[in-house]
Amino acid sequence: MVGEREWDVIVIGTGAGGGTLAHRLAATGKQILILERGDYLPRERDNWDSTAVFVSGKYRAPEFWYDKHGDQFPPEVNYYVGGNTKFYGAALFRLRPEDFGELRHHDGISPAWPIQYDVLEPYYTEAERLYLVHGQRGEDPTEGPASGPYPYPPLQHEPRIQQLSDDLEKQGLHPFHLPIGVNLTQDASGWPTHDSVCIRCNRVDGFPCLVKGKSDAQVICVDPALTYDNVQMVTNAYVRRLETDASGRSVTKVVTALGDGSTAEFSADIVVVSCGAVNSAVLLLRSANDSHPRGLANSSDVVGRYYMRHNNLALMAVSKEPNPTQFQKTLAMNDWYLGSDDWDYPLGGIQMLGKSDDEQIRGEAPRWAGRAAPNMPFEVLAHHAVDLWLCGEDLPLSDNRVTVDADDNIHLVLDEKNNIAGLNRLRHKLQGMLGHLGMHEGHLLDHSIYLHKGMPIGATAHQAGTVRFGSDRATSALDPNCKAHDLDNLYVVDTSFFPSIGAVNPSLTAIANALRVGDVIAERLG
Ligand SMILES: Cc1cc2nc3c(=O)[nH]c(=O)nc-3n(C[C@H](O)[C@H](O)[C@H](O)COP(=O)(O)OP(=O)(O)OC[C@H]3O[C@@H](n4cnc5c(N)ncnc54)[C@H](O)[C@@H]3O)c2cc1C
Ligand code: SF4
Repeated sequence: MVGEREWDVIVIGTGAGGGTLAHRLAATGKQILILERGDYLPRERDNWDSTAVFVSGKYRAPEFWYDKHGDQFPPEVNYYVGGNTKFYGAALFRLRPEDFGELRHHDGISPAWPIQYDVLEPYYTEAERLYLVHGQRGEDPTEGPASGPYPYPPLQHEPRIQQLSDDLEKQGLHPFHLPIGVNLTQDASGWPTHDSVCIRCNRVDGFPCLVKGKSDAQVICVDPALTYDNVQMVTNAYVRRLETDASGRSVTKVVTALGDGSTAEFSADIVVVSCGAVNSAVLLLRSANDSHPRGLANSSDVVGRYYMRHNNLALMAVSKEPNPTQFQKTLAMNDWYLGSDDWDYPLGGIQMLGKSDDEQIRGEAPRWAGRAAPNMPFEVLAHHAVDLWLCGEDLPLSDNRVTVDADDNIHLVLDEKNNIAGLNRLRHKLQGMLGHLGMHEGHLLDHSIYLHKGMPIGATAHQAGTVRFGSDRATSALDPNCKAHDLDNLYVVDTSFFPSIGAVNPSLTAIANALRVGDVIAERLG
């Protein structure tokens, strides 16, 4: 019986962090139990249906959290095997070397990490290989040194995006091929070969992949890990609480609500929490006991604090020429990542989003009334849409905080204006270039359906920072190996360990770090 066995390692959560760590440990032969609150995502036509995914939010977790006014909001979270990577855009970036040091921003300091880029670099290289990342080194002026080339060639631009790349270069900028994790084999023109798993369609961003072409944590890590006899997974297994021994130094029980309504208690030598930044903090806070009155691993009182999620803008420009691109996520630009001629502070990066279609644009229409080319029918507008994503760094503020109340409701307090000056400048720079990029100058519209509009609190897709790691136990919950300072057998490997978030997508860093921590745990287990 799963519940009656003594496991070597229990991994809670199967996203970028937990899924990857379980994969790393599978080959050790140690007895590993994976607990996942969700089930497998059903494979059905709706996986690729814009209305089901974006307008109705069919797959989003059916829950509400509370903001600082006590108002409910639906968070952008998905509970399935593979976690949020089932829905992610698979843009798999490394942080810049500067992101690991202290960086001065307009609104304050982005703190240094306890490890530097060179420590994570070999794991970034392994992570890129594992998650089938396609990219091109040497194009992005901000990229750090790498010990090897990308394992797969970059995804070729389709003609309208190649034109955009050429036009950006004419402006003296350095667009580059966006690193992306897909199982695509390209022919000479960039289209899939007859035996390619990925078919290079227009559903890559925000949709789950029906044909297992996207490098998500289920396909890349959990499914292969489960081929080992020593690895087992229980789905619909919602971990409610961690209990410790009398000394408070060891987690002894993982108390779990199962899908049939029963409760089970699992135990292991090592417990790894990887529930996503908000839910990991909630689990630790909810596990308070006499030895840990503020919650597990929380003698520093940082658990739940320093929540980050990126300052995001999803925008749509309107191309003068049609944009028949299928797979649009092939280009990015970091020229102003660390600053610009007219601004001493970091602005952030620009990258392409998945191509919007007329169903998504129809969903946006009420908000755009009077602003979006009034005489353009939705289908025509969709055919001219060029979708862009601007990403700036938000700073870790102690009062940006996750808590859980006596009725088990999740509360999220967030200063939405935190460090947005750089992002506003980035938008302004893009707006000023539209005429040179073959776009209508007046139109740069917010996509609310994609990643919510602007940065309302529900945009939790890039959540991070709530169980930060560090060398000083007074200001961090985890040590540099992501083990809780206060406990001997508790690790956390989702994005909650980030002390700062940079301005690139977080998953590759969570994946690389999970490989690193996996090695630490494997060595410890002998
Ligand atoms: C639409 C969208 C697009 C995105 N695009 C990108 C992108 O292009 N590039 C990128 O880098 N990132 C992207 N992201 C963000 C990325 O998905 C996350 O950063 C990443 O998945 C975080 O991994 P994680 O392990 O921290 O958590 P998650 O992936 O959220 O995994 C947490 C897991 O824990 C499970 N869980 C939670 N609570 C419990 C519990 N109590 N008991 C048991 N199990 C539990 C959850 O069901 C889930 O499986 C995107 C996200 C979204 C939603
Ligand atoms: S582009 Fe490839 S990976 Fe993305 S949804 Fe289509 S088939 Fe899947």
